[in-house]
Amino acid sequence: MIELPIYGQDNTLPAAEEGPILGIDLGTTHSLVAVFQHGRPRVLTDEQGDPLLPSVVAYPEQASHNQPSAVGREAREQASTNPTRTIHSVKRLIGRSLKDLGHELATLPYQLASAEDNDGVRIVLGDLHLTAEEVSSHILTACRERAAAALKMAPQSLQRAVITVPAYFDDAQRQATRTAARLAGLEVLRLVGEPTAAALAYGLDKREQAKIVVYDLGGGTFDISVLELADGVFRVLSTAGDTHLGGDDFDRVIMVDCAEEIRRLHGFDALADPESRTKLRQIAEQVKKTLSVQEETEFRFSHAASETEYQRKIDWRMFQRWIAPLVQRTLDHTALALKDAGLRPEDIDEVVLVGGSTRVPLVKAAVAQFFGRPAHDELDPDQVVALGAAIQAGILGGAVRDALLLDVTPLSLGIVTADGTVSRVIERNASIPAQAKEGFTTYVDGQTAIKFTVVQGEREMAADNRTLGEFELRGIPSMPAGLPQVAVQFLLDANGMLQVKAKEQSSGIEAKIEIAPKHGLTDEQVETMLQEAWDHADQDLELRRRAEVKSRLDQVMIAVTKHLEQAKTSLGESEWQRLQEAYEDAQAIDEQTTVEGIRGRLDELEQAANPLAQLLMNDVAMEAVRDQKVSDLLDK
Ligand code: ADP
Ligand code: MG
Repeated sequence: MIELPIYGQDNTLPAAEEGPILGIDLGTTHSLVAVFQHGRPRVLTDEQGDPLLPSVVAYPEQASHNQPSAVGREAREQASTNPTRTIHSVKRLIGRSLKDLGHELATLPYQLASAEDNDGVRIVLGDLHLTAEEVSSHILTACRERAAAALKMAPQSLQRAVITVPAYFDDAQRQATRTAARLAGLEVLRLVGEPTAAALAYGLDKREQAKIVVYDLGGGTFDISVLELADGVFRVLSTAGDTHLGGDDFDRVIMVDCAEEIRRLHGFDALADPESRTKLRQIAEQVKKTLSVQEETEFRFSHAASETEYQRKIDWRMFQRWIAPLVQRTLDHTALALKDAGLRPEDIDEVVLVGGSTRVPLVKAAVAQFFGRPAHDELDPDQVVALGAAIQAGILGGAVRDALLLDVTPLSLGIVTADGTVSRVIERNASIPAQAKEGFTTYVDGQTAIKFTVVQGEREMAADNRTLGEFELRGIPSMPAGLPQVAVQFLLDANGMLQVKAKEQSSGIEAKIEIAPKHGLTDEQVETMLQEAWDHADQDLELRRRAEVKSRLDQVMIAVTKHLEQAKTSLGESEWQRLQEAYEDAQAIDEQTTVEGIRGRLDELEQAANPLAQLLMNDVAMEAVRDQKVSDLLDK
């Protein structure tokens, strides 16, 4: 449920990839592709103006390579003549093993085999063995091609996408979806939860806080999600649903009832004949859709070979009676989801309808009755998720300003310190908005400016992380090194804007930088970075410790050198002796010296320099720091 924020510099992606970011709703039944343009999200259509791309892929007879013969409407239309080589609902398979699928296997018209090299499944079409990722990638490729045609751009210029996934998708399913995208030549900038996308489409992120229910009744699946919006951050409180409940079931009840009558009247078993069955289902779906806008329609079916001519009036009352138990089941799941979230229907502020099947008047009425309020249906329920994906794409592309970006930070944000290590200010996985403060000081005497480099990442050394920006605090009053107290504040707001402010306390001078959220880091890059941090954790830690201790020692040595004259005249004989020796030992440090070795000499030098520190403090009359050690002065 964690949605990753993206930061970056302009130079993090090759310029050639700067085409629009696609927002893709990769659905079980239909997929859609949208973009954010001219200040608004827009779903792209095919040449006929159809925004829906059936998630159906057909493979040629006896093909041994994995190139589809048709994708989308064309594939669906030829499904009845080529049922065993036409794959639909591949979303049910993605990221799942044969074991996960269980009884689902029986419902699939094609054969599945277990993959040899991993847990995944293979769809077996004769000699051709396909992974769900490959089939999904063919749908995504079709989305990309549709976008290229609609935008009159080369497909190669469309390389980045935001893709939606069900809120309940686990890591394996999300990872497999990313793989599918990669196979289609798309880099996934973000996977967004479908309910979150729907809420974005309705602009609900503009609310201060709200409890939102997203009711998504599609073709074959029902998902109910309870979201909480607080300070621009969406959280999924609960999800429930049924992976085998949807508009297809509405079609089926019509189809079965009519097929039954056809058998009785004409003695023809239409369900037993694959071609007639497909035809019946298509007619049933049309009847259902008509009943969403009309009170009555006709079911007409003819079959030449059996001399069947069938015609029947169906009105919305009959249809409602047929589907009432199915609609009731959606409400039962809804009640469960609410219970899981610890909420009652009256606690819900916004209800959003998603999925083509929410056009059915009975569904709308049932949901409204359940919550005691009308649900949002102003947007096209087929398009809501894709529109939300495009808005997210707009946010990542920098086109949408005042919008929610993230709910947790995926990587830590910090400042590079003088020794080249990173001081993390906001930790990874902090929920946003977030703010944190950290104290810094000068490195050399009389230093009047400090350069701050803001980085993102988990590695200990600055160079291994990603630089987000730099700024300088100038005009610091001239003081001995380590005395100025500079407070650095990180403010990460819900829009993903990061503001870093540095303020020198005694003078009140300030400097700041604002870093806008940008595309740049893909989830994968985030993962790679995390993996690298993990792989190098020990080595990094060693390097960091060494760098820190060494830097501290250098500072003490610098301070001591500055005041050698004074030390010689003002310190007692033994004090001077000790300081001299400690200083020489510190000077003798080289590459071979261990961290412990450096630390030992640092401790000794600090102690030896303590009497000198007392003298210095009197000189600068620093009341407040009288009881501190020199090292505290040097390194705040
Ligand atoms: P998915 O998210 O599972 O891909 P969709 O949200 O695209 O599914 O919904 C597809 C379902 O919506 C199909 O069962 C389709 O018949 C149904 N549907 C589309 N338009 C209407 C309508 N006007 N009335 C009733 N059902 C509709
Ligand atoms: Mg859907």
